[in-house]
Amino acid sequence: MIEKRQFYINGQWVDPIDGRDHHVINPSTEEPCAVISLGGQADTDAAVAAAKAAFPEWMARPAAERIALVENLLQTYLDNADELAQAISMEMGAPIDMSHEQQATTGSFHLKGFLNAAKEFKFERPLGEHAPNDQIIYEAVGVAGLITPWNWPMNQIALKVGAAAIAGCTMVLKPSEESPLNALIFAQMMHDAGFPPGVFNLVNGDGAGVGSQLTAHKDVDMISFTGSSRAGKMISKSAADTLKRVHLELGGKGANVVFADAGEKAVKWGVRRVMNNSGQSCNAPTRMLVERSFYDQAVEIAAETANSIEVGPADQKGRHIGPVVNEAQFNKIQGLIEQGIKEGARVVAGGLGRPENLNRGYFVRPTVFADCTPDMTIMREEIFGPVFGIMPFDTEEEAVALANDTEYGLTNFVQTADPVRANRMARRLRSGMVEMNGKSRSMGSPFGGMKQSGNGREGGVWGIEDFLEVKAVSDWTPE
Ligand code: NAD
Repeated sequence: MIEKRQFYINGQWVDPIDGRDHHVINPSTEEPCAVISLGGQADTDAAVAAAKAAFPEWMARPAAERIALVENLLQTYLDNADELAQAISMEMGAPIDMSHEQQATTGSFHLKGFLNAAKEFKFERPLGEHAPNDQIIYEAVGVAGLITPWNWPMNQIALKVGAAAIAGCTMVLKPSEESPLNALIFAQMMHDAGFPPGVFNLVNGDGAGVGSQLTAHKDVDMISFTGSSRAGKMISKSAADTLKRVHLELGGKGANVVFADAGEKAVKWGVRRVMNNSGQSCNAPTRMLVERSFYDQAVEIAAETANSIEVGPADQKGRHIGPVVNEAQFNKIQGLIEQGIKEGARVVAGGLGRPENLNRGYFVRPTVFADCTPDMTIMREEIFGPVFGIMPFDTEEEAVALANDTEYGLTNFVQTADPVRANRMARRLRSGMVEMNGKSRSMGSPFGGMKQSGNGREGGVWGIEDFLEVKAVSDWTPE
């Protein structure tokens, strides 16, 4: 069994002061695969103190020096991506090929996006031609607490650490206790890349412990959080007493509006997109809305596509999907499938219980519900498993109303061969992102949501700005 109890504080691996053991469970086997330590207040305080001490020197460095260290990090990351992929696969259940091709590569993708954005970014600039003696200075917010989830762990860590480092913040990362191993590998990469002691610190812990200690800490100036809307609300309340800046990337319940002219491939794409990562993506298109003339055919295609998706252990090579992350998620998903059946949705693929070939591990059958209505629990709550619902619509107007009828607003999707209609839809959907016809957003594009999907944006120039204060100076002498 892997033993990784230490934390990374002030440029060194240190023993916990106030830690307790925690087993990391491999969701494919239900067996423990590693022991880590969950820190306590004294560990959090030590990490925050190191970040606070390192801040003045780090923020005052020329941006070019910080950017050069992020360039080193990118190289170190690329050199160690295989190790990251293996850790992610084991601890959160992403199949090994997918972990290499998608999970691990997201980190380097975002680091490259930040480097591109940083080279263009003017940390100091005049207010405008009308005011040559007014200067706008962008400077780091301060000590940032970074709290990340397990579902796309390296995606989230790179989005936060890369941006914070370029902005000039120092930081304490608390990764998810479900997937701490990849974060520990990442901490070593930060060390090897040559970041000065105290700029980056990592303390493992849970939400009630290190997570809450960071959000309430008087010396933490900002929290950047990705995770559930439930925790996002608690964090906002906990951070209120110190009025720190809170950046939230939360859940989603994305609509995928499929017009009849989009055809079979759009439905297939929609199903595969939900099922990828076993449905554990905040931006999964989990409400498929289909134009009525194409509805029956779409249900059939969706069922066939879901039935063709294989489920298997994470260490097995191939294009299957893996387990969901843990027992609690497995039980929650089973409960929601049961609820969907009780509320009258029609199961056209999958259903309750494990797939036939698997009797151990948190494996869920790829499940499709048809004939859903907007008030059903499965169409309102984030399921976070390989499960989604389909319902028909008659007019474009109705499709927009249905898509926007949710407390979330992260990503919506539109499938149509009519580009004028596609643009009209993009303007009317209330979400931070709209993806058209299966085309993903490009490097440096901002990621984030409206409504209860959060605030702020990650990635590219927007991600860097989220870690910056704006200072306005008058009577500036141009240099
Ligand atoms: P979670 O909210 O349970 O945990 C996320 C992180 O927050 C973990 O590190 C956890 O230890 C910590 N945490 C939990 N409660 C806390 C508290 N009260 N104070 C401080 N920290 C706390 O979420 P999860 O189950 O790990 O991740 C799944 C959720 O993340 C889903 O809802 C998903 O939609 C969301 N997510 C959102 C995005 C996005 O960018 N919008 C991306 C990925 C995942």
